[in-house]
Amino acid sequence: MHVSPNRSPLVAAVDGGAGAANLPPEAQAQLDSLFVGLSGQGPFSIGYPCNQDFDYTPLYRFLGFSLNNVGDPFSGSNYRLNTHAFEREVLADFARLAGFREEEITGPDRSYWGYVTNGGTEGNMYGLYLARELFPEGIVYFSEDTHYSVAKILRLQHTRNIMIRSKPDGEMDYEDLEESLRIHRDAPPIFFVNVGTTMTGAIDRVDRIREITRRLCLPHHYLHVDAALSGMILPYVDDPPPWNFADGIDSLSISGHKMLGSPLPCGVALARKTHVDRVARSVEYIGALDTTISGSRNAITPLILWYALRCRDGNAMREVVIRSLDTAEYAVESLRAIGVDAWRHRHSITVVFPRPPQSIMQKWILAPYEDFCHLITVPNVDKATIDAFVADMTASRS
Ligand SMILES: *Cc1c(COP(=O)(O)O)cnc(C)c1O
Repeated sequence: MHVSPNRSPLVAAVDGGAGAANLPPEAQAQLDSLFVGLSGQGPFSIGYPCNQDFDYTPLYRFLGFSLNNVGDPFSGSNYRLNTHAFEREVLADFARLAGFREEEITGPDRSYWGYVTNGGTEGNMYGLYLARELFPEGIVYFSEDTHYSVAKILRLQHTRNIMIRSKPDGEMDYEDLEESLRIHRDAPPIFFVNVGTTMTGAIDRVDRIREITRRLCLPHHYLHVDAALSGMILPYVDDPPPWNFADGIDSLSISGHKMLGSPLPCGVALARKTHVDRVARSVEYIGALDTTISGSRNAITPLILWYALRCRDGNAMREVVIRSLDTAEYAVESLRAIGVDAWRHRHSITVVFPRPPQSIMQKWILAPYEDFCHLITVPNVDKATIDAFVADMTASRS
């Protein structure tokens, strides 16, 4: 469907019809049935961390252009239909949220580099790529609760790696980490740190990992943080654990379609610019500074992230986050009140409980794992939704 830039975005959103004149009726019916099916899923989708509470209709007119953010957002592109300027604003905002100081962001010697990715996975791939280029002999340490995509990335990049045990609550087992590091003292460690694991929202402690490197005299190491969901929670809570660039990390990945919410998957990769420059020099012989993993890149998602951040200033975002944390606590208490052994980590909107009966799993879109399960109170999941879920749970138990 071609949406001309000057059509009303709302019309384009709702009718789906104009421009569909050439579409055979069967095909139109297929689209309509997809739309109806998708519309019915929303209220029961509580297991995945994708905030559905958004309205980007003012951006629909940009779908009329063949936009492309090919290349490095900071070095410009010959392809003029791009949104690099907006992308750079988004990156500055995320750099601020992730602990860079103001003079490191706006001063003459910018300290961060990054780009808008296709999602958390690409940001993790970028961070691990940077780490491996800096430490070709390095070993990646990651916990068994790490997102499944990381094992694939490590295989793809052919990087040495060691899986570390997790504690029952999903946090890295630091004793196992220390023992493994001691055995492999000759190789520089690359730490893959979870700031909010997928299944339980557990946070691996940057400070504890750094303490171990000091104890074992391992000055050359690298810390990549996967903050897919919690990267948009921790900037807004009181008393967060150490997790970002202010605490000495080297790179970071955040998903855009999780806590912020986006109809298109996206994310942000950030890294210390000194690392990126060193690696760029080492690949200069290719003749181009091809810094991003994807070549042609989505130019709409930077606009979406920019719009999301501009519609809600820091205070508004804090309110959204606090409300989600409140809802998570409400869910824990409501489930416990009916005898379900629910719990959550501090600063986490992931509520963990034993896997419910099949009747519940059929109606509610939950994310099961072995014998437990979770729901995630992203901003569109409100207390009424939790009440409805708990009512179903009560019925299923009686
Ligand atoms: C969702 C998630 C990812 C993957 O992010 P995508 O945006 O889906 O690519 C990676 N790590 C964690 C902890 C996640 O929760």
